[in-house]
Amino acid sequence: MFKSKEEFKTAYIERLETLFGQSLDESSMADKYVAFSALIRQLINKSWYQSNRQYRATKEKQVYYFSMEFLLGRLLASNLFNLGLTEICGQGLKELGINLSELEAVEQDAGLGNGGLGRLAACFLDSMAALQLPGHGCGIRYRHGMFEQKIVDGYQIELPDNWLKDGYIWEMRKADRAVTVKFGGQVRLAEQGGRLVAIHENYEPVVAVPYDVPVVGANCNTVNTLRLWSAETNHFDLSSFSKGDFLKAVEQKYSLEATSQILYPDDNYPEGKTLRLKQQYFFVSAGLQSIVRRYKRTHGATPADLAKIHEKIAIHINDTHPALAIPELMRILMDEEGLGWDEAWNTTSKTISYTNHTILPEALEKWPVDLVQALLPRMYMIIHEINERFCAALWQEYPGQWERIREMAIIGDCYVRMANLAVVGSHSVNGVAAVHSEILKKEVMSNFHQYFPHRFTNKTNGVTHRRWLAKANPKLASLITETIGPGWLAHPNELANLRRYAQDPAFQASIKAVKQANKARLAAYIKNKMAITVDVNSIFDVQVKRIHAYKRQTLNALHILDLYNRLKADPAIDIEPRTFIFGGKAATGYYLAKRIIKFINTLAQVINNDPVIGARIKVIFLENYSVSLAELIMPAADVSEQISTASREASGTGNMKFMMNGAVTIGTLDGANIEIRDEVGDDNIVIFGLTAAEVLNYYKYGGYNALEVYQGNPRLRLVVDQLMNGFLPASPDEFHSIHHSLLRTNDEYFVLRDFAGYAAAQEKVACLYRDQSRWQAMAVNNIAFSGRFASDRTVAEYAIGIWGIKPVVIRES
Ligand SMILES: *Cc1c(COP(=O)(O)O)cnc(C)c1O
Repeated sequence: MFKSKEEFKTAYIERLETLFGQSLDESSMADKYVAFSALIRQLINKSWYQSNRQYRATKEKQVYYFSMEFLLGRLLASNLFNLGLTEICGQGLKELGINLSELEAVEQDAGLGNGGLGRLAACFLDSMAALQLPGHGCGIRYRHGMFEQKIVDGYQIELPDNWLKDGYIWEMRKADRAVTVKFGGQVRLAEQGGRLVAIHENYEPVVAVPYDVPVVGANCNTVNTLRLWSAETNHFDLSSFSKGDFLKAVEQKYSLEATSQILYPDDNYPEGKTLRLKQQYFFVSAGLQSIVRRYKRTHGATPADLAKIHEKIAIHINDTHPALAIPELMRILMDEEGLGWDEAWNTTSKTISYTNHTILPEALEKWPVDLVQALLPRMYMIIHEINERFCAALWQEYPGQWERIREMAIIGDCYVRMANLAVVGSHSVNGVAAVHSEILKKEVMSNFHQYFPHRFTNKTNGVTHRRWLAKANPKLASLITETIGPGWLAHPNELANLRRYAQDPAFQASIKAVKQANKARLAAYIKNKMAITVDVNSIFDVQVKRIHAYKRQTLNALHILDLYNRLKADPAIDIEPRTFIFGGKAATGYYLAKRIIKFINTLAQVINNDPVIGARIKVIFLENYSVSLAELIMPAADVSEQISTASREASGTGNMKFMMNGAVTIGTLDGANIEIRDEVGDDNIVIFGLTAAEVLNYYKYGGYNALEVYQGNPRLRLVVDQLMNGFLPASPDEFHSIHHSLLRTNDEYFVLRDFAGYAAAQEKVACLYRDQSRWQAMAVNNIAFSGRFASDRTVAEYAIGIWGIKPVVIRES
């Protein structure tokens, strides 16, 4: 590790010269980035090696977090931060005439995820390492991650994400650890040596090659591993080749490698495509094979050793996407290691734990039986047997209750229900915020909760305060450290010490100055990207997240239109100037979400170009919302829009990032918003709208009439009419689908019902902002109470309550 910037500078120059055979002056920004990152990676490698050695030697229990998505963003800055090198390297680079931020910007975001779920997995990796927990990630190395979004003419255009085009400095290919995953073919059971064995024939083998990414722990020597699997094959089909059928051989190679080519860009909506199921089994099987292989080397390879695997290994599945881990671990234990069913089942269910991420009915994964049978014949046999035994047990408990048993069955209506499989085959099921976990227990999974009452718990989500506060908002981080000392970095609950400065005028002035600087930074970005000048003294009112009907960007947009109408009608009304900022991607096949993007951009066109009103309110849609863009946006927000229909957003994590950066939430009582309110108190948040209980009541018993609400509110009626009456400069039926969703299908997400409450809440926000002393106190309190939403707290709860793992202190290498 570098002890001084001089030492660093010498090493860096030497690295640049030996790597590229050129001097600093001759080097491009890209070369400077590569040399710098290579130097940092070399430091990391030492601790990585030491960590792995100690994990083997101590034989402590380890956890593997299986997730189809890891939305990492950039790693250079967070690695530097966690190594404690930001100062030394930043200063050293500066003396060499290099700006560290510019260097960091060379790195492509690793966008291997859609949104909240994938970002949560990335935050958990950071926290596991910081807490010195032996915890690793297992996922897919998508050749193309989340698509790049362009806005052309107000419409979303998708471009492929080619994040690997210049190579990826943080990964290490481990060709010698490759494993084979088998697809298709037939399985027959045969008797061998008095034992029934499964013989898999005529299958298609896909080679899975691991690429390991180091996960650096903050201020400790821990370096864990994120293992990402890539489908590769180097040998062409020789039989085709020798017959001269070159094309066929190449075709086959590409079809095998297709497995890890793309991330499905759907958030909270599973694509029922064969390739998606193939991806799921691909990384689950590869991951488990490599874990079992290592376990056998460390802890013994007899069936008796393997029956105790849960004592040394915990496997966590992030949503149901990796739920095939249950039958796959059964297969390995029975078919490859010789355990009997009961032993294998006992071990498997004690090894696996499951997080549920959504109660949206359309988001619950289910796979057609035919598809599972054809693509994964052995998996199907095992799932079928699990189901038979589970239903038999239910029959014992609930004789004659067919309806209940039908609902709880793993296979039903010709589908495999992945959530049912995950609950039955694991020892722990958790929701991601208190209200969500309660809804799971009382509504969505009430049958399972009755049958397995001790299996259900809550683990409220969190975000890593290192990336989302310390790194994204260095000015705020410095101010906090100057005020309460540096303890909050290791113990985020110490942020509570800021509370006593909430009313301090000098501190308020400093908080405001930091916010202004961050707003100016975002304004410069907007100016540069969009050639629009925004007023840095206006309220920055931000809604950034995936575009989804339940997240209700429509509610926000309709309110902006209403505000515009009122200003048009009476330009003299005294409003607080505002900049409404949106960002987010729509799934490629999600028609309504794409129209919502067009609606927001059309509003922007009308309002921003209005010579009078454009000076008081502006609408900005920032294209290509991503982790790196979020790091620029969060510190600059005054207002955080968390306005989902109550009960639909399981937790949200964007809400936590805003809070940590001193934004005030305007939100519904949904997901973690409720816990944010509980922390900051009603005076430091603006709440509106239906409660989850009210929404669930409407869903169950009906009684909501959208048309009535529309007819009863003239302002609301006007904006809804404006979608269709030619007021907006767009083709006549451009917004038909939005209008239709509000009135024809009775407004499934209660946009109209919550409109009046939302408009009133927005007036309250403006009013609070006018009292700057009051507002700055609210901002301070939000930061002060955000410690609970650090993912260090969340991960510590998982470690103790679910995984049963302890820290392993890694020695300096
Ligand atoms: C945090 C984050 C999300 C999740 O945001 P929500 O508001 O919780 O939906 C999505 N995308 C990115 C890039 C993020 O950083």
